[in-house]
Amino acid sequence: MAVMDIVHYGDPILRKKCKHVQQFDGIDRLIADMFDTMYEADGIGLAANQVGLDLHLFIIDISHTEEADEPFIFINGDIIDSEGECEYDEGCLSIPGVTLNVVRPEAIDLKYQTEKGEWKKHTFTGLAARAIQHEIDHLNGVYIVDRVQEIDRMSVKSKLKEIEAQAKEEQKTRQTLQGYKF
Ligand SMILES: [Zn+2]
Repeated sequence: MAVMDIVHYGDPILRKKCKHVQQFDGIDRLIADMFDTMYEADGIGLAANQVGLDLHLFIIDISHTEEADEPFIFINGDIIDSEGECEYDEGCLSIPGVTLNVVRPEAIDLKYQTEKGEWKKHTFTGLAARAIQHEIDHLNGVYIVDRVQEIDRMSVKSKLKEIEAQAKEEQKTRQTLQGYKF
């Protein structure tokens, strides 16, 4: 078990458009470590750049709901179609203590690769669709605060400043991740 440090709001890696995964050898270990990290933080989704890695990869576990029996792994995911609209209060492991009501499409068609590199396509709705869109946003450098109106953003401004200052400190001491080569 290896729990990695979660990168917080303000860290430049969270504004990056992440690179597509080309090399699948050894990715299992990274994915296992990401799950350990996500569970430790009580999250339901985690993107690779949230642990400091510039890779187009994210994981989701909503198996506590009736929507899914097992955790999801999505590599090089791309939303190719979407439908409907709904709102939901979203939190984010990179913005602790902040919850914002975000409007997003209700259903999405996602094209993605498995950890074996196999391409798949699937339609997701409900919490899965919500979590997938949140994580894909991360891999495009987008936060929930970018998805809400200015007035809502203002309401969490001081909290964001606080987290940003913390992220700056963490960057100074952040260890370069060893052993993951992709
Ligand atoms: Zn997040």
